[in-house]
Amino acid sequence: MTPLRAPKGMNDILPAESGAWHHVESIFRSTMGLYGYREVRTPYLETTPLFVRAIGEVTDVVEKEMYSFVHRDDALTLRPEGTAGVARAYIEHRVHNSEPVSRWFYLGPMFRAERPQRGRYRQFYQAGAELFGDPGPHCDAEMIESLVRFLGNLGISDSEVVINSIGGSGARKKYRDALTDFLEPKKHLLSEESQRRLVTNPLRILDSKSPRDEEAVKGAPVILDVLDADDTAHFEGLRRSLDALRMPYRVDPHLVRGLDYYTRTLFEIKGGADKLGAGNTLVGGGRYDNMIAELGGPSVPAIGFAAGVERLLIARSAAEEAPIVSVFVASMGDSAVSCAMTVAQRLRDMSLPCEVDSRGGSLKGQLRRANALGARFAVIVGEAEIASGSVQVKDLAAHSQESVAVDKVAEYLKGKA
Ligand code: AMP
Repeated sequence: MTPLRAPKGMNDILPAESGAWHHVESIFRSTMGLYGYREVRTPYLETTPLFVRAIGEVTDVVEKEMYSFVHRDDALTLRPEGTAGVARAYIEHRVHNSEPVSRWFYLGPMFRAERPQRGRYRQFYQAGAELFGDPGPHCDAEMIESLVRFLGNLGISDSEVVINSIGGSGARKKYRDALTDFLEPKKHLLSEESQRRLVTNPLRILDSKSPRDEEAVKGAPVILDVLDADDTAHFEGLRRSLDALRMPYRVDPHLVRGLDYYTRTLFEIKGGADKLGAGNTLVGGGRYDNMIAELGGPSVPAIGFAAGVERLLIARSAAEEAPIVSVFVASMGDSAVSCAMTVAQRLRDMSLPCEVDSRGGSLKGQLRRANALGARFAVIVGEAEIASGSVQVKDLAAHSQESVAVDKVAEYLKGKA
């Protein structure tokens, strides 16, 4: 029989790893809380046209990577990213009527049919945020600052902020023409896919990882040279604001990012290069001032980012393992088991995590289990202890032992364990 396996590129997160996930998630929640963000949860499935309209038809995600299917009469897609669904929810619930500025974050799985490799999976998790209602550029800088703080709180100290502006639709049109004029004579040097994109979406060629394309775009015009006056003022405002916040950054005029919805500010944060190599983009984000209106909502500016949780876990320095329980209750002999269970019940009443090995077995074996669980204390309940009304409490770190009355164990350990 063929062994059953998880789908390719989709991973189990076993209990041994989930503590690290909780750590990253809780640091994300607390950091975003410092900036007034609240959590939004949207469905994992959305209608397919939402992604096609929001992300753009000629993008890798929409052309090749979406898990789409028709169920009864509905065309549905497993969300490949978070922004489209969050924007849809913002519009559907007419949130702009009740609050001028909304700061929302989300955490959850995304699905893209990509070729799996280290740091790139088909089901992966993003920690992201969207800020609606502020045209920037100061909030753009603040968002970048919140991310650097988040990464710092995770122990990722080598983070590098890269920024660019792709302007509004006017500048984009001008740039598209300039780029097409530059690349047209070099068309034969481009990869097959980029030759096609020269007609459909030339900006995407700057994103290509093909060495042929990378060579061909060298010396290409940069979008910063064709920005409108307002776009330039926005970009300069962002730079001034980052300087005021003492945030170092690098301008990469070829940064375009893979999704079509961006306007003006674009940014990426790289980090953990020693562990991730070239695929070390931890966070990607940008402004999307037209999306809400294009999806049928009001004209509300917006900016957002998404960080890949798996990549953060690889990039961060490993934190110390938290103990699974703080107390282990060992029971010696059949009649001791129910007393051990009662002791454990009292410990849990006091909110002390504990485990009882109701299988019994040798004391040595049970203490080995206590150590494996990271317990600081072991309570030893044997027949002799029951007869005397007291149990042995062993401090596994200090290697000391004390006799404590059965009904006082929980109080004794509270505050110590
Ligand atoms: P994007 O939504 O493509 O802008 O990606 C934002 C961030 O999500 C990236 O910088 C990565 O950290 C992460 N990410 C994107 N795609 C994947 C993937 N297939 N597997 C793991 N992480 C991903």
